[in-house]
Amino acid sequence: MSIFANDIVSWYQNHKRDLPWRDTSDPYKIWLSEIILQQTRVEQGRAYYEKFVKKFPDVYALANASQNEVLNLWQGLGYYSRARNLHQAAQQIVFEYGGRFPNTYNDIQKLKGVGPYTAAAIASFAFNRRVPVVDGNVFRFLSRYLKVKTPINSSKAFKEFFELADELMGEAPPADFNQAMMEVGALICKPNNPQCMFCPVQSRCEAYAASEQLLYPVKNKKTKVQKRNLYYFVLEASNGLVLKLRDKKGIWQNMYEFPVIESEKPLKKNELSEKAAEAGYISDEYTPLIQIGEERIHKLSHRELHARFYQVKTTVGRPGLVEFKALKNYPLPRLIDRFIEEEKPEYYLQKE
Ligand code: SF4
Repeated sequence: MSIFANDIVSWYQNHKRDLPWRDTSDPYKIWLSEIILQQTRVEQGRAYYEKFVKKFPDVYALANASQNEVLNLWQGLGYYSRARNLHQAAQQIVFEYGGRFPNTYNDIQKLKGVGPYTAAAIASFAFNRRVPVVDGNVFRFLSRYLKVKTPINSSKAFKEFFELADELMGEAPPADFNQAMMEVGALICKPNNPQCMFCPVQSRCEAYAASEQLLYPVKNKKTKVQKRNLYYFVLEASNGLVLKLRDKKGIWQNMYEFPVIESEKPLKKNELSEKAAEAGYISDEYTPLIQIGEERIHKLSHRELHARFYQVKTTVGRPGLVEFKALKNYPLPRLIDRFIEEEKPEYYLQKE
């Protein structure tokens, strides 16, 4: 084993966190944990991992669930395309691979929602394949260790870091080496305050030697976050409220929300009234708009949503009406769910 691999693997064996998905070589559970942990903190991810394993103990249980059940369990984690892909990939494994998890780096990438990083993690952790993982932690750790100036969000970065990690891995056991790389990145070579004092490779780290730790990783400037305005109409009857399925492509596809008017630019009151009347959300453009609560700002990775909610009384027989007691069965975007929790908790109290 190279000195680098030896140093990080011994460190890992003494300092690794005790995480439930580390006690298994079951590819199903490893895959589940990897998908949940994308864009999610470990502590939050752990609770969701446990819920998923309990409800869907194997790939058949997940494949046979309805998409609504999966989205419901996912609620609160955000980035819902991950949940939809998870469900579709479970069906691929059951129907295309006869329930056997594909076991090579290339085949694992054919699963819906599985990219090179996740495929490398599954291939090495579950099948001991010799493929390096390259995630955000590895980018940061290696870019500092070797003072790599390639911007990590550029198109050539992945290949370059993949080759570097491959070189450093040498003959080390792939699962331990990869786990060690990610764990050093997560616990020691942290984004804002790297713990160089405790780092197993400090003596050879180029950024440390030059006191330039915080200059790495290098990144290209971010693209501008787009703003969007959402005007929700909460059409409420005595026994329920109106929900609409969001069929537009995007992160909330196949989830439910209140009838909405969307606009790039903020709308003036009269413009909003006209549009709402046209869409049939209010009876005419002279109906006063009663706003519930303040404007809510919901931040996604590439969007900033500015949402306002308006109260409208409607009748019991209105199409799309969902009874309050059935509301829990509908997957809702976090923005809507949080609005209900904070402004309309009575909806969840199962009014009869
Ligand atoms: S010495 Fe510091 S900057 Fe270098 S790899 Fe270790 S933690 Fe990161």
